Amino acid sequence: ATPAATMVGSTISATNGVLFKGADVLEKARGIDTVVFDKTGTLTHGEMELTDVVVLDQPATDGGVAERVDDADPVGAPPVDESLVLGAAASAESGSEHPLAEAIVDAARERGVAVAEAEEFENVPGHGVRAESEYGETLVGNRKLMADNGIDPEPAAAEMERLESEGKTAMLVAVDDRLVGVVATADTVRESAKETVAELRERGLGVVMLTGDNARTASAVAKEVGIDPDNVRAEVLPEDKADEVDDLQADGSRVMMVGDGVNDAPALTTAHIGVAIGSGTDVAIESADVTLMRDDPADVLKAIRLSEATLSKVR
Ligand code: ADP
Ligand code: MG
Repeated sequence: ATPAATMVGSTISATNGVLFKGADVLEKARGIDTVVFDKTGTLTHGEMELTDVVVLDQPATDGGVAERVDDADPVGAPPVDESLVLGAAASAESGSEHPLAEAIVDAARERGVAVAEAEEFENVPGHGVRAESEYGETLVGNRKLMADNGIDPEPAAAEMERLESEGKTAMLVAVDDRLVGVVATADTVRESAKETVAELRERGLGVVMLTGDNARTASAVAKEVGIDPDNVRAEVLPEDKADEVDDLQADGSRVMMVGDGVNDAPALTTAHIGVAIGSGTDVAIESADVTLMRDDPADVLKAIRLSEATLSKVR
């Protein structure tokens, strides 16, 4: 953009809380027909709170948890209780900066559950974490993480489904190759999300949700904000978010992608217009064409309206 054009963009941003990286962005935003929202931190506040700690009461199997719990042998594994599930999970997560990790660690500290030092921490993007601590070798994450490590997530299926249908993110916890429990976090939908989706749809725009979270949780949140279940893309790995946007654009759509996370950066760049939530990560803001300074999804509409108004004035 020319310096003059950039001026137009930044002038507009100053009064509306919507920051455009140049006037050409305003022009480009005009042809948008689809808005893709990231879920966590974009449609929701992204401030997770731990809501549930489930201790798995498994039937006795050879070497299984229940057998060890009932076992009088003092050198056996410790009995599984809430402190073990939360403590092991928090210790493993203490090496992660993921919002889910922070919620788990904060809850453990608040409840006075010991958070042990983690070693050999490994982050498995889009799936969870693995680490060693006093609690043992611990895995915290989704079904895929467990399955990939030879742990059958099936005994937790009913609990996982119950929590997910409430819109919560449920994570499995395994210690020393045994499934010991489930922890769940809840997030709240941003106030203006529902009305924003409604108005976008009224304007004839397609509205899509893109998330790494599981399908059941994603559907519960989509329902809450009024996004069509057919337009929910769940369990999308960080590296695949951009491909989802690419696919939509290959079908002829002009996509505005709205996101906040490191995960969203490539998708923000790939989209016709990338929009970052102002409190989002620096990488997201750098990758975007537009930044919403007030973190308000309703400002997506403002950006679209501004682009239309500005162009009609120029013409
Ligand atoms: P989002 O798109 O919601 O930010 P991510 O791609 O970061 O999601 O993660 C997708 C899923 O992987 C999460 O819903 C969770 O089940 C699992 N996961 C990711 N990071 C962690 C973590 N640090 N601890 C536990 N589970 C995790
Ligand atoms: Mg996000």
